[in-house]
Amino acid sequence: MKTLLIQGGRIIDPSQGIDETGSLLITDGKISWLGRGEMTPPQPDYDVLHAQGLIVCPGFVDLHCHLRQPGFEEKETIATGTKAAARGGFTTVCCMPNTEPPLDNQATVDYVKSIAAKEGVVRVLPIGCISKGRRGEELAEMGELASAGVIAYSDDGEPALDSRLIRQALDYSRAVDLPIIDHCEDTSLTKGGQMNEGIISTRLGLQGIPNAAEEIIVARDLALAQLTGGRLHIAHTTTEGSVELIRRAKGKGIKVTAEVTPHHLTLTEEKVTGYDTNAKVNPPLRTKKDIQALIQGLKENVIDIIATDHAPHTEADKQCDFALAPFGISGFETALGSLMKLVRNGQLPLTTLIAKLTYEPARIIGNKFGELGTLAIGAPADVTIFDPDMDWVVDTKVFASKGKNTPLAGSVLKDKVMATISRGKLVYKDESISVKES
Ligand SMILES: [Zn+2]
Repeated sequence: MKTLLIQGGRIIDPSQGIDETGSLLITDGKISWLGRGEMTPPQPDYDVLHAQGLIVCPGFVDLHCHLRQPGFEEKETIATGTKAAARGGFTTVCCMPNTEPPLDNQATVDYVKSIAAKEGVVRVLPIGCISKGRRGEELAEMGELASAGVIAYSDDGEPALDSRLIRQALDYSRAVDLPIIDHCEDTSLTKGGQMNEGIISTRLGLQGIPNAAEEIIVARDLALAQLTGGRLHIAHTTTEGSVELIRRAKGKGIKVTAEVTPHHLTLTEEKVTGYDTNAKVNPPLRTKKDIQALIQGLKENVIDIIATDHAPHTEADKQCDFALAPFGISGFETALGSLMKLVRNGQLPLTTLIAKLTYEPARIIGNKFGELGTLAIGAPADVTIFDPDMDWVVDTKVFASKGKNTPLAGSVLKDKVMATISRGKLVYKDESISVKES
């Protein structure tokens, strides 16, 4: 593998408290040198990527995405999903187990890992099921899944309504030190629900999903985490009430972490006006007030990380009546561009945003797979380079993802991923970036 020198960018690495203009050297797939100013590598033969005016940071780590393989390859495959991830600056993606068959045993986890090794352009870390067949009845073979290398357990897409099952799972999580990721939704309150419950749902004549449907299960899971001492991670937090519940739980020392998606941080329920099925997502887009609480939560570390919940669907899936469309947004390729608006508006410091996409998610999965989310010397060279000042139009035709389902299609974003390096290899590069031989 040829040595690569990234010269002259603004290097931001929250894991080491670094924010300086300098250079980064990648040798044999690892970070081998980092420092201020320009540098000349000791080896004679290397490539140079000039990063003047660009931000150079650790590759993003996504704790929540749907790669759809096996079973739903018409929506996404590991090959297309990881290409989309690379275009979005993600170098590690954790895939949810709601495939067909689901990832509830060693054989399916091995299958995903083998396809990822052959066809994945970035690192794929599978999440195993909590329950057998995701039916919410009995625990999956959690020990077997842990030895197969899953990094967490989740029945995402379906909430585990049986409190006893979550209690057992949390108990088990202590032994293997892997988090239980819960999709918090009281389905007795969300059945038939299409969007956030409020004035807009009434006006549109769509059945609403109240904040309480999420908060009830968040409260229950926090109580169970306290009871068991197990590690709980709350998926896609969307409401002010959930943020408050998690804040209090953390204050009591309960082992909980939480995530929020780019769309829940940047879009409100108003996106649904006009019945755009691409804005139909579960949990639903909420209100400005919820968004403010989520941003405040991020700043105070009540919400630990940002995760995409990349959920690709085919155009045919989404071209139908609002009520019939599946939930989900294709999120990898617009994540950074949409999130950077929060930085531009002064709502979130840039280093906080980068930490929530790199070091913090890596910490939740225990960094068992080598040093992720950092540019520390010796760590795998997972690097994202982005331009903080470049207008671009979201054109779903050029998406690598099979999922073109985004409510941001046609909108202008200002920050663009220019290059992504995964384990030392340049896996994505914008046309305007050139890599030259020394
Ligand atoms: Zn979910």
